Amino acid sequence: MLDPFNRTIDYMRISITDRCNLRCIYCMPQKIRSLPETEILSYEEILRACIQGVSLGIHLIKITGGEPLLREGVPDLVRQLKNIPGISKVSLTTNGVLLSRHLDALCAAGIDGINISLDSLDGERFRLTTGFRGLDDIIQAIHESVTRNITVKINAVLIDNGGKPQWQGLVELARVLPLDVRFIEMMPIGYGRAFKGIAHDTILQELYETYPGITEDTASPGAGPAVYYGIPGFTGKVGFISALSHRFCQTCNRIRLTAEGMLKPCLCYASGIDLKSILRDPDKTNEAIRQAFVETIAMKPASHCFTDMAPQAPEEILEKRAMVAIGG
Ligand code: SAM
Ligand code: SF4
Repeated sequence: MLDPFNRTIDYMRISITDRCNLRCIYCMPQKIRSLPETEILSYEEILRACIQGVSLGIHLIKITGGEPLLREGVPDLVRQLKNIPGISKVSLTTNGVLLSRHLDALCAAGIDGINISLDSLDGERFRLTTGFRGLDDIIQAIHESVTRNITVKINAVLIDNGGKPQWQGLVELARVLPLDVRFIEMMPIGYGRAFKGIAHDTILQELYETYPGITEDTASPGAGPAVYYGIPGFTGKVGFISALSHRFCQTCNRIRLTAEGMLKPCLCYASGIDLKSILRDPDKTNEAIRQAFVETIAMKPASHCFTDMAPQAPEEILEKRAMVAIGG
């Protein structure tokens, strides 16, 4: 389906939980009150919503959270999503802590890709960022994933703390492993408002100095907003998702379904449609669900307002939920 700015909307990020086992300082630094389970969409409700979304052209699905692997039955959800005619890809984004134990089942379910969020390969820095000591579990899960030929992307959000940026170890993962390493700019959402991210041009400049043969890879753009670079001798690529410094809204292809069942047209704004109420109303038909998708897509703004408008934008129009509640 086309939105008012002629963008094709074919991708939905679905958050299946607002709970998390990490405490990333820019996302969920302390335990926040989780939604009661009855307020979270059931898998049946998610599948019903997806069937209607697919009839309007959604065919790419990303499962997110909170930490999605904290919820029981994710591989089964993947399998059922993959069985919906019209869905072309189902992928997952995870912090990787619980990934190893689910890999076989996810592969059997037909997962098309796994994004693993990892901000540092330094154990102490990782602990300070996430409140978690088990970096080795995540590294092991990365290796086990590529061994199973899963398409893996590492997503890193770097904080500007005045020290030397921690990009190099992460980039070096793509030298030996068949995976892409992507840097995501810190967005001023929820706790992220308190942090300054590292501008991607700074990292890119340092990459050019470190790897003189690096070139932008314009031949194989992905389905999302990442801009990729190839480095001679590297197996994988390095990507940048620069929502702030290189706004990419003109190619936005996505909507979001939060764990509590809000259909959101844009990460930046509070607006959305309460799909859960429609799904749980026995008088509402599938047509009402489709209508909710149509209205959400019609509400898509031309762009986010993180950089320019936000200081003057009326507070009530801006998203106030924490990222952990939306799904990133
Ligand atoms: N727990 C899973 C994970 O970490 O991949 C899925 C949910 S998490 C909210 C999804 C992504 O959002 C992660 O890559 C995380 O780094 C990113 N994220 C969280 N807060 C952010 C912020 N303020 N700006 C940019 N990215 C953020
Ligand atoms: Fe949890 Fe992911 Fe947020 Fe970190 S970024 S606190 S792992 S939801």
